[in-house]
Amino acid sequence: MLYLVPTPIGNLEDITLRAIRILKEADVVLAEDTRTSKVLFQKHGIETPLRAFHAHNEHGVTAGIVEQLQRGATIALISDAGTPGISDPGFLLVRACVQGGVPVSCLPGPTAFVPALVASGIPCDRFHFDGFLPHKKGRQTRLRYLAALPHPFIIYESPHRLPRCLEELIAACGPDRQACVARELSKLHEELHRGTLAELREYFSQQAGKVKGEIVVVVQGSA
Ligand code: SAM
Repeated sequence: MLYLVPTPIGNLEDITLRAIRILKEADVVLAEDTRTSKVLFQKHGIETPLRAFHAHNEHGVTAGIVEQLQRGATIALISDAGTPGISDPGFLLVRACVQGGVPVSCLPGPTAFVPALVASGIPCDRFHFDGFLPHKKGRQTRLRYLAALPHPFIIYESPHRLPRCLEELIAACGPDRQACVARELSKLHEELHRGTLAELREYFSQQAGKVKGEIVVVVQGSA
Protein backbone atom coordinates (compact mmCIF):
# COMPACT_ATOMS: atom_id res chain seq x y z
CA MET A 1 0.00 0.00 0.00
CA LEU A 2 1.14 3.53 -0.76
CA TYR A 3 -0.17 6.06 1.76
CA LEU A 4 -0.14 9.77 0.97
CA VAL A 5 0.06 11.47 4.34
CA PRO A 6 -0.69 15.19 4.74
CA THR A 7 1.58 16.95 7.24
CA PRO A 8 1.22 20.34 9.01
CA ILE A 9 1.49 23.56 6.98
CA GLY A 10 2.95 25.35 9.99
CA ASN A 11 1.60 24.32 13.37
CA LEU A 12 3.11 20.90 14.16
CA GLU A 13 -0.04 19.96 16.12
CA ASP A 14 -2.03 19.90 12.86
CA ILE A 15 -1.57 16.21 12.15
CA THR A 16 -4.13 13.47 12.68
CA LEU A 17 -3.72 10.53 15.05
CA ARG A 18 -4.08 8.23 12.07
CA ALA A 19 -1.37 10.06 10.12
CA ILE A 20 1.04 9.59 13.04
CA ARG A 21 0.16 5.89 13.28
CA ILE A 22 0.60 5.30 9.52
CA LEU A 23 3.96 7.11 9.59
CA LYS A 24 5.06 4.93 12.53
CA GLU A 25 3.89 1.67 10.92
CA ALA A 26 5.26 2.24 7.39
CA ASP A 27 8.43 0.41 6.32
CA VAL A 28 9.80 3.63 4.91
CA VAL A 29 8.63 7.25 4.58
CA LEU A 30 9.44 9.10 1.38
CA ALA A 31 10.03 12.77 2.20
CA GLU A 32 10.73 15.85 0.12
CA ASP A 33 13.38 17.20 2.51
CA THR A 34 14.36 14.65 5.14
CA ARG A 35 15.76 17.41 7.43
CA THR A 36 12.37 19.17 7.52
CA SER A 37 10.55 15.90 8.19
CA LYS A 38 12.94 14.94 11.01
CA VAL A 39 11.61 17.90 13.02
CA LEU A 40 8.06 16.57 12.68
CA PHE A 41 9.21 13.03 13.43
CA GLN A 42 10.97 14.15 16.63
CA LYS A 43 7.90 16.06 17.80
CA HIS A 44 5.69 12.96 17.40
CA GLY A 45 8.15 10.18 18.28
CA ILE A 46 8.25 8.69 14.77
CA GLU A 47 11.36 6.60 14.08
CA THR A 48 10.58 5.19 10.63
CA PRO A 49 13.48 5.48 8.14
CA LEU A 50 13.21 8.47 5.81
CA ARG A 51 14.17 8.40 2.15
CA ALA A 52 14.43 11.44 -0.14
CA PHE A 53 11.71 11.79 -2.78
CA HIS A 54 11.51 15.17 -4.50
CA ALA A 55 11.06 16.91 -7.84
CA HIS A 56 14.71 16.26 -8.78
CA ASN A 57 14.74 12.47 -8.25
CA GLU A 58 11.11 11.34 -8.58
CA HIS A 59 11.51 10.32 -12.26
CA GLY A 60 14.56 8.19 -11.41
CA VAL A 61 13.31 6.41 -8.29
CA THR A 62 9.59 5.87 -9.00
CA ALA A 63 9.93 2.49 -10.78
CA GLY A 64 12.03 1.07 -7.91
CA ILE A 65 9.51 2.25 -5.31
CA VAL A 66 6.64 0.63 -7.23
CA GLU A 67 8.59 -2.68 -7.30
CA GLN A 68 9.14 -2.43 -3.54
CA LEU A 69 5.40 -1.86 -3.05
CA GLN A 70 4.55 -4.77 -5.35
CA ARG A 71 6.77 -7.02 -3.17
CA GLY A 72 4.57 -6.07 -0.18
CA ALA A 73 6.15 -2.99 1.41
CA THR A 74 4.04 -0.34 3.09
CA ILE A 75 5.32 3.07 2.07
CA ALA A 76 4.16 6.54 3.10
CA LEU A 77 4.79 9.67 1.06
CA ILE A 78 4.93 13.08 2.71
CA SER A 79 5.95 16.51 1.46
CA ASP A 80 7.54 19.38 3.39
CA ALA A 81 4.07 20.70 4.22
CA GLY A 82 0.46 19.95 3.42
CA THR A 83 -0.85 17.28 1.10
CA PRO A 84 1.58 15.50 -1.26
CA GLY A 85 0.61 16.03 -4.89
CA ILE A 86 -0.86 19.50 -4.24
CA SER A 87 1.82 21.77 -5.77
CA ASP A 88 4.25 19.11 -4.52
CA PRO A 89 5.63 15.79 -5.79
CA GLY A 90 3.23 12.86 -5.63
CA PHE A 91 1.29 12.56 -8.86
CA LEU A 92 3.97 10.60 -10.78
CA LEU A 93 4.25 7.99 -8.04
CA VAL A 94 0.47 7.69 -7.62
CA ARG A 95 0.02 7.20 -11.37
CA ALA A 96 2.77 4.57 -11.49
CA CYS A 97 1.17 2.74 -8.53
CA VAL A 98 -2.28 2.84 -10.13
CA GLN A 99 -0.80 1.46 -13.39
CA GLY A 100 1.15 -1.19 -11.45
CA GLY A 101 -1.87 -2.41 -9.47
CA VAL A 102 -0.60 -1.06 -6.13
CA PRO A 103 -3.36 0.21 -3.78
CA VAL A 104 -3.09 3.92 -3.01
CA SER A 105 -4.76 5.76 -0.15
CA CYS A 106 -4.54 9.47 0.69
CA LEU A 107 -5.34 10.45 4.27
CA PRO A 108 -7.45 13.59 4.76
CA GLY A 109 -5.46 16.41 6.31
CA PRO A 110 -3.79 19.80 6.00
CA THR A 111 -3.49 21.72 2.76
CA ALA A 112 -2.93 25.47 2.55
CA PHE A 113 -5.66 26.49 0.12
CA VAL A 114 -8.65 25.16 2.10
CA PRO A 115 -8.24 27.31 5.24
CA ALA A 116 -7.38 30.33 3.04
CA LEU A 117 -10.54 29.91 0.97
CA VAL A 118 -12.86 29.10 3.83
CA ALA A 119 -11.67 32.02 6.02
CA SER A 120 -11.55 34.49 3.10
CA GLY A 121 -15.23 35.43 3.33
CA ILE A 122 -15.52 34.84 -0.42
CA PRO A 123 -18.22 32.31 -1.42
CA CYS A 124 -16.60 28.89 -1.33
CA ASP A 125 -19.27 26.52 -2.59
CA ARG A 126 -17.45 26.34 -5.95
CA PHE A 127 -13.83 27.28 -6.61
CA HIS A 128 -10.84 26.78 -8.86
CA PHE A 129 -7.37 25.96 -7.50
CA ASP A 130 -4.51 26.97 -9.78
CA GLY A 131 -1.43 26.45 -7.59
CA PHE A 132 1.66 28.45 -8.62
CA LEU A 133 1.31 30.60 -11.75
CA PRO A 134 4.06 30.16 -14.34
CA HIS A 135 6.80 32.71 -13.65
CA LYS A 136 7.29 33.84 -17.24
CA LYS A 137 5.91 32.06 -20.30
CA GLY A 138 2.17 31.52 -20.12
CA ARG A 139 1.64 33.72 -17.04
CA GLN A 140 -0.50 36.35 -18.79
CA THR A 141 -2.57 33.70 -20.60
CA ARG A 142 -3.19 32.00 -17.26
CA LEU A 143 -4.18 35.28 -15.61
CA ARG A 144 -6.66 36.02 -18.41
CA TYR A 145 -8.14 32.53 -18.03
CA LEU A 146 -8.49 32.94 -14.26
CA ALA A 147 -10.01 36.43 -14.56
CA ALA A 148 -12.86 35.10 -16.68
CA LEU A 149 -13.85 32.28 -14.29
CA PRO A 150 -17.32 32.73 -12.76
CA HIS A 151 -16.20 31.31 -9.38
CA PRO A 152 -13.36 32.18 -7.00
CA PHE A 153 -9.82 31.09 -7.81
CA ILE A 154 -6.89 30.38 -5.56
CA ILE A 155 -3.19 30.73 -6.29
CA TYR A 156 -0.01 30.10 -4.34
CA GLU A 157 2.49 32.97 -4.47
CA SER A 158 5.86 33.77 -2.95
CA PRO A 159 6.08 36.89 -0.73
CA HIS A 160 8.58 38.71 -2.95
CA ARG A 161 6.35 38.27 -6.03
CA LEU A 162 3.14 39.32 -4.22
CA PRO A 163 3.20 43.05 -5.14
CA ARG A 164 3.73 42.26 -8.82
CA CYS A 165 1.09 39.52 -8.64
CA LEU A 166 -1.48 41.97 -7.22
CA GLU A 167 -0.67 44.44 -10.03
CA GLU A 168 -1.19 41.69 -12.59
CA LEU A 169 -4.44 40.57 -10.96
CA ILE A 170 -5.74 44.16 -11.12
CA ALA A 171 -4.79 44.36 -14.80
CA ALA A 172 -6.61 41.09 -15.50
CA CYS A 173 -9.62 41.32 -13.14
CA GLY A 174 -10.01 45.06 -12.48
CA PRO A 175 -9.34 46.85 -9.17
CA ASP A 176 -12.71 46.17 -7.50
CA ARG A 177 -12.72 42.40 -7.19
CA GLN A 178 -12.79 41.13 -3.62
CA ALA A 179 -9.76 39.09 -2.66
CA CYS A 180 -7.92 37.73 0.35
CA VAL A 181 -4.20 37.34 0.98
CA ALA A 182 -3.68 34.62 3.60
CA ARG A 183 -0.21 34.60 5.09
CA GLU A 184 1.48 32.15 7.47
CA LEU A 185 -1.65 30.07 8.04
CA SER A 186 -1.65 28.14 11.33
CA LYS A 187 1.60 29.86 12.39
CA LEU A 188 2.29 32.48 15.07
CA HIS A 189 2.02 35.39 12.61
CA GLU A 190 -1.05 34.16 10.69
CA GLU A 191 -2.75 37.09 8.91
CA LEU A 192 -5.67 37.32 6.51
CA HIS A 193 -5.98 40.58 4.58
CA ARG A 194 -9.37 40.97 2.92
CA GLY A 195 -10.45 43.73 0.56
CA THR A 196 -10.59 44.75 -3.07
CA LEU A 197 -7.54 44.01 -5.18
CA ALA A 198 -6.81 47.76 -5.19
CA GLU A 199 -6.93 47.89 -1.35
CA LEU A 200 -4.66 44.89 -1.08
CA ARG A 201 -2.20 46.42 -3.55
CA GLU A 202 -2.19 49.61 -1.50
CA TYR A 203 -1.53 47.71 1.73
CA PHE A 204 1.18 45.44 0.37
CA SER A 205 2.94 48.20 -1.62
CA GLN A 206 3.51 49.91 1.75
CA GLN A 207 5.02 46.66 3.03
CA ALA A 208 7.36 46.31 0.02
CA GLY A 209 10.38 44.18 0.90
CA LYS A 210 8.94 43.35 4.34
CA VAL A 211 6.39 40.71 3.37
CA LYS A 212 7.66 37.33 4.51
CA GLY A 213 6.40 33.81 4.90
CA GLU A 214 4.02 31.72 2.84
CA ILE A 215 1.07 33.11 0.97
CA VAL A 216 -2.21 32.02 -0.58
CA VAL A 217 -4.25 34.46 -2.69
CA VAL A 218 -8.01 33.96 -3.10
CA VAL A 219 -9.83 36.10 -5.69
CA GLN A 220 -13.62 36.40 -6.14
CA GLY A 221 -15.06 35.09 -9.41
CA SER A 222 -16.12 37.34 -12.29
CA ALA A 223 -19.85 36.69 -12.01
N1 SAM B 1 1.41 20.67 -0.50
C1 SAM B 1 1.08 21.98 0.02
C2 SAM B 1 -0.44 22.07 0.24
O1 SAM B 1 -1.07 21.02 0.39
O2 SAM B 1 -0.97 23.17 0.32
C3 SAM B 1 1.59 23.09 -0.87
C4 SAM B 1 3.06 23.06 -1.09
S1 SAM B 1 3.64 24.38 -2.09
C5 SAM B 1 5.27 23.83 -2.44
C6 SAM B 1 4.00 25.64 -0.91
C7 SAM B 1 3.05 26.84 -1.03
O3 SAM B 1 1.84 26.55 -0.32
C8 SAM B 1 3.60 28.10 -0.40
O4 SAM B 1 4.44 28.81 -1.29
C9 SAM B 1 2.32 28.87 -0.11
O5 SAM B 1 1.82 29.47 -1.29
C10 SAM B 1 1.38 27.72 0.31
N2 SAM B 1 1.49 27.52 1.76
C11 SAM B 1 2.05 26.47 2.41
N3 SAM B 1 1.96 26.64 3.74
C12 SAM B 1 1.34 27.81 3.94
C13 SAM B 1 0.95 28.55 5.11
N4 SAM B 1 1.21 28.09 6.33
N5 SAM B 1 0.33 29.74 4.94
C14 SAM B 1 0.05 30.21 3.71
N6 SAM B 1 0.40 29.56 2.57
C15 SAM B 1 1.03 28.37 2.69
